[in-house]
Amino acid sequence: MLLCPLCSSDGVKKIKAYTSSGYDIYHCISCDGVFADPMKSHGKDWYEKSEWEYYDFNASSSIRDLGWYEKVFLQDKPNNGKGLLLNIGCGRSDFLKRVEETGYKVLAIDFNKESIEFTKNRLGIKDAYAVDVFDFAKNYNGEKFDVVVFFEVLEHLDEPAGFIMALKSILKPDGYVVMSVPNRERLSPQKEIWDYPPHHLTRWSAKSLGKFLESNGYIVEKLLVSPITADSLVSVLKANFETKYIEDKIKKADARKADKKILISYVFKTLFKLRMAFYRILEIAGSVFIKTRGPGIYALARLKSDLDIPAIGDYIVKRPDR
Ligand SMILES: [Zn+2]
Repeated sequence: MLLCPLCSSDGVKKIKAYTSSGYDIYHCISCDGVFADPMKSHGKDWYEKSEWEYYDFNASSSIRDLGWYEKVFLQDKPNNGKGLLLNIGCGRSDFLKRVEETGYKVLAIDFNKESIEFTKNRLGIKDAYAVDVFDFAKNYNGEKFDVVVFFEVLEHLDEPAGFIMALKSILKPDGYVVMSVPNRERLSPQKEIWDYPPHHLTRWSAKSLGKFLESNGYIVEKLLVSPITADSLVSVLKANFETKYIEDKIKKADARKADKKILISYVFKTLFKLRMAFYRILEIAGSVFIKTRGPGIYALARLKSDLDIPAIGDYIVKRPDR
């Protein structure tokens, strides 16, 4: 019998619409979680070859803008912006530098070596290690953490429940976890390959993330769906109404740089600008009327301090080979 990997309930139902090759996707009636079967990622090597190859960590232009969730965190500053902070799955923005400037002492881990090199060399964070989070939690015997941050990590894990439990052994009694995941209830998520297994093994709604944290001994202090942005509307409309055609026309006209095309290019560009204005209006309307349909979810939760913390061996039942 298939059990929900998030809450162990057997009340799970296959969702045919989400099925992709080699995996089935199930919905748990009990916790509202959506998960892949099998819950198995392709491991470290696959990630290094697929997802990460798009990033050139050495290029000077490779620092991306802060994500919306990173901005929210810098405003929230849990534990009053102080204490020891663990970042799991460090990205390639200058987020951790900003975190350090805020007053936290930062330790960063990622299974990706390039990501760690970036964090060390470009951001100047000395305590950065290429290590698996389960190995880290098992072997860590330093000072416990006040805050553990993992943005866009949870949906990749083949043992999300084991992960959130493992964090308890390295958190201070009233420590915080702060995370973000893609929102499966965002506008039109169905066409995006990156949101399916083996990329993402779980798909979250605000409700399911809240339940997941609470049932694992955390008190949710903030659960936020990101606002609908003009960018997300553009991608939705592109997918639904094929406005990509117009953009391709603009690009081609620009590329040829032929005199005759300049006028056409100009017309298309004007149309494009008007279209953006139209999207901005929709963005404002959207943020009012469809609050739960933004692209991401942010959660800030505190460990229940009266909880009995079991030894790590008790709750990590299995570990897949990586
Ligand atoms: Zn469940």
